[in-house]
Amino acid sequence: NKTVVIIGASHAGVNAAFMLRKEGWQGSIHVFDADRSLPYHRPPLSKTFLTMAYSSNEYALKPLESYEKEDIQLHLGLRVTKINRTAKHIQYGADGLQPYDALILATGARSLIPPIMGLESATRLFTLRTLKDTLRIKEAVENSATKKVVVMGGGFIGLETAASLKKMGAEVTVLERENRVLARVTSPIISGFFTKLHATNGVTIETNKNVVGIAMENDEHLVTCDDESTYTAAIIILGCGIVVNTALAEDCGLHIENGIKVDPACTTNDDAIYAIGDCTFHYNPHYARFVRLESVQNAVDQAKVAAAAICGKGATYDSIPWFWSDQYDIKLQMVGLSNGYDDCVLRFEEGKQNVLSIWYFKNGMLLAVDAINCAKAYVIGTKCIKNKLRLNKSKLNDSSLPLKLQDI
Ligand code: FAD
Repeated sequence: NKTVVIIGASHAGVNAAFMLRKEGWQGSIHVFDADRSLPYHRPPLSKTFLTMAYSSNEYALKPLESYEKEDIQLHLGLRVTKINRTAKHIQYGADGLQPYDALILATGARSLIPPIMGLESATRLFTLRTLKDTLRIKEAVENSATKKVVVMGGGFIGLETAASLKKMGAEVTVLERENRVLARVTSPIISGFFTKLHATNGVTIETNKNVVGIAMENDEHLVTCDDESTYTAAIIILGCGIVVNTALAEDCGLHIENGIKVDPACTTNDDAIYAIGDCTFHYNPHYARFVRLESVQNAVDQAKVAAAAICGKGATYDSIPWFWSDQYDIKLQMVGLSNGYDDCVLRFEEGKQNVLSIWYFKNGMLLAVDAINCAKAYVIGTKCIKNKLRLNKSKLNDSSLPLKLQDI
């Protein structure tokens, strides 16, 4: 009876466990997570979970019975502290020891806490990565008299949280260090769109704001930026990015390079150890480069690959990255990686407000599409990138032509 051990019970780890059964794994499966909650979907944490009165079980990745049915042993609230590659076992909790034949690292990432003077003195400062974080934020906002919130960071998590808190009646200011929001992940056009969207909905976005100090004054936080501007807040949310959880892998000598380095079968430099999800640095054949992705799609796709590989079915990772974000009544869908584009086409859909798409090209080939309330653009974009189809840019740009593959 062989054993697969999985460290991390989130999108990557849980999917790997169930995929192992689907691929015919007969041995035992043990999944460990430091988090005590039944594994849950993370995307709603900054979206509907903040604004709606749901119970946490509604966000479970799988109901508890499914783990029992598939004979998947969940070990929650237990941190894995060491991997012994020679003995092929992991250590967990106070003195737990679990042998493995194959080990999957699905350790993901944690919120980055920037080194800001006085940050530790803040009494209502929150990150947003776990269910517990969301519940704490919800409680703090509901109990705050002024509901004055400063969100540090205008990335997806910062902006989604800002939109949700606004819906909860908060007065929200987003402080972004760069000269535009979403600078790391998309083009200035999309950044401009979301800046305007937030302004319309009453959220203040301030760019070029590098926070350097936090202090408490009369039970309020005083946030200071390097241009000496200051902001007061009852609550501070940190949306400053993530730190990849690589310590376990690093300590046992696995290759680390902007994440745990894996081959196309999600194998590390140890044949018995796989890594999947946010914690990996992996090769994407469509873009001919190594990338680290923070998305549910990548976690799920790599889980499938690792499970198949463990079951001896030669799988390789060749997915096109995709991602989504919901803010107010806007759904952004992104497919592909737009970095390095040399041309782009902005397309509006005739007669429809807030329905648009941006198509990014390099050397005439489509690299990526960002679609706003336009699922069609997302679907067509995916097809074109996958099959390396060439598009006619001027037809694409012509909103009098329908958005159909045969017409563009
Ligand atoms: P994680 O979800 O980070 O899980 C890793 C798990 O490993 C954690 O539960 C952790 O407790 C556990 N762990 C780590 N080290 C140990 C250890 N030593 N011992 C035991 N357990 C350990 N993606 C999208 O595609 N679309 C979205 O709209 C979107 N929205 C998001 C909103 C929020 C608020 C957040 C936080 C993320 C969002 N994401 C979104 C990103 C997405 O949630 C992540 O890409 C995904 O969770 C990655 O899954 P993972 O399993 O690789 O890692």
